[in-house]
Amino acid sequence: MQSVESLSTSTWSEYPSLRFSEVSKEDFISIVLSTARMGSIPQDTQPAYDVLIIGAGLSGVCSLYHIRKRFPTWRVKVLEAGTDVGGVWYWNRYPGCQIDTESLSYCFSFDKELLQEWEWTESFAKQPETQRYIKRVTEKHEMEKDMKFNTRIKSAHWNDRDHTWTFFDEEGEEYVTRFFVSCLGFLSSPTLPKIPGIADFRGKAFHTSRWPGDIDISRDFAGKKIGIIGTGATGIQTISALSKDPSLGSLSVFQRTANWSAPLRNTTISAEEMMIAKGGYDAIFQRCATTPAGFLHEADPRKSLEVTPEARVEHWEKLYNSPGFGKWLGVFSDTYTDREANDMYSAFMADKIRQRVRDPLVAESLIPKNHGFGTRRVPLETGYFEAFNKDNVHLVDLQKTPISRVTNLGIETDDGQLHELDILIFATGFDAITGAFGAIDWHAKDGRPLIVSRGSERYESAIWPDHRPKTFLGLSAPAMPNMLMVLGPHQPFGNGTRSIEHASAFICDMLAYCHDKGYTYFEPTTGAVDLWTEHVFDCGKTGLMNEIDSWMTGVNKNVEGKTERTVARYAGSAINYRKWCADCKEKGYEGFVFLE
Ligand SMILES: Cc1cc2nc3c(=O)[nH]c(=O)nc-3n(C[C@H](O)[C@H](O)[C@H](O)COP(=O)(O)OP(=O)(O)OC[C@H]3O[C@@H](n4cnc5c(N)ncnc54)[C@H](O)[C@@H]3O)c2cc1C
Repeated sequence: MQSVESLSTSTWSEYPSLRFSEVSKEDFISIVLSTARMGSIPQDTQPAYDVLIIGAGLSGVCSLYHIRKRFPTWRVKVLEAGTDVGGVWYWNRYPGCQIDTESLSYCFSFDKELLQEWEWTESFAKQPETQRYIKRVTEKHEMEKDMKFNTRIKSAHWNDRDHTWTFFDEEGEEYVTRFFVSCLGFLSSPTLPKIPGIADFRGKAFHTSRWPGDIDISRDFAGKKIGIIGTGATGIQTISALSKDPSLGSLSVFQRTANWSAPLRNTTISAEEMMIAKGGYDAIFQRCATTPAGFLHEADPRKSLEVTPEARVEHWEKLYNSPGFGKWLGVFSDTYTDREANDMYSAFMADKIRQRVRDPLVAESLIPKNHGFGTRRVPLETGYFEAFNKDNVHLVDLQKTPISRVTNLGIETDDGQLHELDILIFATGFDAITGAFGAIDWHAKDGRPLIVSRGSERYESAIWPDHRPKTFLGLSAPAMPNMLMVLGPHQPFGNGTRSIEHASAFICDMLAYCHDKGYTYFEPTTGAVDLWTEHVFDCGKTGLMNEIDSWMTGVNKNVEGKTERTVARYAGSAINYRKWCADCKEKGYEGFVFLE
């Protein structure tokens, strides 16, 4: 085997396919060494697929549409664990599940004909409607023939000899591909709380994202004692919906951390309104392209203290009474960077909760004390706080009385009280951003694992030890050649569909570049990864959001290795992010190493 020292400068010219002007010597050496170790690249090995896409949510659907359109002769397949398309909208069928992004901006821009045909019935579509929309996209474009369902990928192996990935599903079936696009989802790996005795519970128990299809609330919940653990976005939607069901016996809400929430103000869209709205799609997408998070809302450029107290409250009231994310994103520009500004707005929101909840003690428990308004993603609600005014809805504040264990009959708190339950719902969220990656056993370049927790055997060689991502543009990762990610770590998430369309377009362009140049290998350089990852961290320094434990800062106490904060998503603006991507592309995909 060639040693590092034996690679003289003259060796560079022997690898004309390496675009070494952009490659550091270390990257060059590492690539040449791994190629030398494995022998020369055979030209005759044909992988079964040109591109594999893993995940059939919005990202997978969008990627498949564009890749097929651009490369009609390529062999492309989508592998999906579920039995249908939709991703988040396929899995999350809990009552009350809906988007808090305007329906008109949470759809694909690429099919203008479908946009004119599709009738949104609510300004914030409920889960079944969004799922129907995704299904309609895939049916219209006959995409399902290129999708394989019931296929959960369990392991992945990089083959340096022929520049391919081999994936294995749960059944042991293998799939060999040249390139792969990760559409694994950043909220697709559900987590359960670590509470002793969970397995002992005798009633029905399930996670919100695995809501049993055969449950009929008015029949199966009638007169029953229901318990729900978790008051994040999903918990808030589920609690609001269940509390309105007249057949419900009782609902006990186990709250570990109070979360801010504010009214969604959903309305139906009449046929006439929809007709007018259809003429505005271009303007909607253009508007989203100019805002920092891809939503229709953006901050008021004034600072909180620049205006009179009356004008301040007037602005806040206006936002509070308007539909959607304005009350999170349309506030004064310093609300999430200046603690005093944030404290003032949080006090305004706390008063709103006090006005809506009859019992002052319950109201105080529902008001977050450990983080300011908007420093976590704000779930929007419809009647959440009023739920606690009902006689059959009880808040169990776990800050005051923590859960000691789950028994066969229900949940026991440390004041010795047993909360008897017939059904237990876990609204405990997801192993966010990196969780779906962590569920796959990766053998990347040089056999390296992707995610390993401290104390485990392969920790030292892990690419993202303890779920701490290193990426280039959130689209690629070191030692993971030929992989591109949609909504991967370090991408701006914001309005999902807008980010997905941007990432899919970049990916298609880059694949076309590889195709045109005859490249069968790409990998981001160490320099590019370090530079980008540092930039991501820098963007995360100023915002109050990054001083809070949340899934956005990579903390989930129910997941091993996720105890310390990291910057797991791009906290800079989507506009800035797109500039970085455009710059990379304009400079011939600077930051990547390519091989023929
Ligand atoms: C309840 C809920 C509400 C939301 N509301 C909004 C909203 O209002 N606005 C917004 O912008 N965003 C919202 N989001 C964020 C949402 O995740 C994105 O908008 C978008 O739907 C993500 O699409 P995706 O295709 O990237 O991921 P997903 O929809 O999560 O799809 C990923 C797919 O990959 C599959 N998969 C994962 N691992 C494997 C494997 N090993 N093998 C095979 N298949 C695998 C999964 O089964 C899943 O189907 C919400 C998320 C949730 C959970």
